Amino acid sequence: MVIKTPPQVNTVIEILNANGKSAYVVGGACRDILMDKTAHDWDVTTSALPEETAAFFSDYKVIETGIKHGTVTVIVDSVSVEVTTYRIESGYSDNRHPDSVAFTDRIEDDLARRDFTVNAIAYSPVHGTVDPYGGIGDIKKEIIRCVGDPDTRFGEDALRILRALRFSSVLGFEIEEETKESIKRNYRLLSNISAERIFAEMCKMLCGKDVKRILTEFSEVIFFIMPELEPMKNCLQNHERHIYDVWGHTVAAVDAVRPEAHLRFAMLLHDSGKPHVRTTDENGTDHFYQHAKKSLKIAEDILLRMKCSNRFRKTVCDLIAHHDFLPDKISRKTYKKYMAALGTETVRELFYVREADVRAQNPVFLENELKANEIGLNVLSEIENKKACLSISDLQISGKDLSEAGIPASPEMGKILGMLLDEVMDEKLDNEKNALLERATELYKTRNGN
Ligand code: ATP
Ligand code: MG
Repeated sequence: MVIKTPPQVNTVIEILNANGKSAYVVGGACRDILMDKTAHDWDVTTSALPEETAAFFSDYKVIETGIKHGTVTVIVDSVSVEVTTYRIESGYSDNRHPDSVAFTDRIEDDLARRDFTVNAIAYSPVHGTVDPYGGIGDIKKEIIRCVGDPDTRFGEDALRILRALRFSSVLGFEIEEETKESIKRNYRLLSNISAERIFAEMCKMLCGKDVKRILTEFSEVIFFIMPELEPMKNCLQNHERHIYDVWGHTVAAVDAVRPEAHLRFAMLLHDSGKPHVRTTDENGTDHFYQHAKKSLKIAEDILLRMKCSNRFRKTVCDLIAHHDFLPDKISRKTYKKYMAALGTETVRELFYVREADVRAQNPVFLENELKANEIGLNVLSEIENKKACLSISDLQISGKDLSEAGIPASPEMGKILGMLLDEVMDEKLDNEKNALLERATELYKTRNGN
């Protein structure tokens, strides 16, 4: 079988071969090209030791990425190729890292340490494919299967459990039965994995095309990582708006929003507060008053624990806090206040959240809800096009103008600028220099008792 690899990668393999070493493209790149997808990064594995590789490529830019683990990055025509020595790993006493790493000169030994059959294929333009675990067949069958015994492999490195869910979601491949059963037996080992690694895998998994299947089939794994979500399962919503329990609605809403990690997390967590505030009225209808507040608190706790960036956490929390807004019912002034407080980008994303939310509800209401969204989006665009004043720096007046008008630079001046901004946003005052100066002087006089 001939696989099309880019000339820069071929150059790396040729130079290693010319120095008497064997070398193969391996891992994700090999898998992706076999699936006719464009690979996004290139891993080459070789019998050369890292110091040897560095020496062979002395005419190229070489970054000593991880000499101890056998990796150097070679840059050929601005393409980065990670070159790693064939490796045998053993000992994993912490369920994550090998206790020892040994270099070997057999490609088959290196493939044995890799997680899934589809990731354990190597290719060289000289030797063709090396596929001892049937990875090519599993790509054709669209299956994620562990290399070797799944219990052993997940015991060595529990992160592989989430990697299995991630590849299954992203590639749209089913998880093979024994691997699946092993995940269900072993997922508690995830308690040995760092929050950062879990978060990174969760982001990728949530953005996969088969996220719905994974969240449904492996909900216990998700609930192990985020126990706060479990009460959503079987939390009924007897209400004309709903056709699913809270978890079913959540899964459908995650699937319905565009695949960006912060939006997917927002949908995953947006109704997590519902089970805590559920009430049933005399007609048997369920209500979830103030649930957004409770969801916000749960989201904050989860995202702090996952050690994501503050910015990511803030955006997700803002989206959750306001997810129940009524796009066609709020005024232009209120939109401006939202834009000033949250930023225009987040307000726009509130519409994506809203759309995903209603798409996961009773379809009878969908058409009207989408119309309401459109009305709100038009208001937002209008405000943006008119370059509305949303912050003190947008005011057509500066502190210097105010001091020239006799208002001394002081905290008082800041207060007056804030009051001017409020009045401009409320459309009670024009954002025009003379009008602003006049109003500022008036405010200053009143506030200072003359
Ligand atoms: P992508 O880069 O698209 O996320 P990938 O398959 O390239 O997918 P990487 O995390 O870049 O995944 O790892 C490269 C290769 O290294 C994998 O294809 C796999 O062969 C091996 N690998 C990575 N992490 C592990 C692990 N935890 N256990 C075993 N093998 C692993
Ligand atoms: Mg990769």
